[in-house]
Amino acid sequence: MGFLDRLFGRKGNKAAPAEEPAAEVECPHTAVTARWDSAADMGKTELVSAYVCESCHATFSREEGAVFIAAAVERLRVSEESRQDRMRQ
Ligand SMILES: [Zn+2]
Repeated sequence: MGFLDRLFGRKGNKAAPAEEPAAEVECPHTAVTARWDSAADMGKTELVSAYVCESCHATFSREEGAVFIAAAVERLRVSEESRQDRMRQ
């Protein structure tokens, strides 16, 4: 162990900053929105050019995006149903 090491107490790695990168949280892609190449096509589901996730900015094909959209709709439906269930009680 060198002089500098002793001086700064570099014995163990207690003071060493964590090298581990922050655990990557997998995005559930709940905020997927449709994109159209042409403004004239906007709103036409069959002419969607791509889907983009607003939270992680991942892009998806029309087919992939439709899956996430359907999942989001299903989640909304389920949460609405459970809300109404609570109201009935
Ligand atoms: Zn995402």
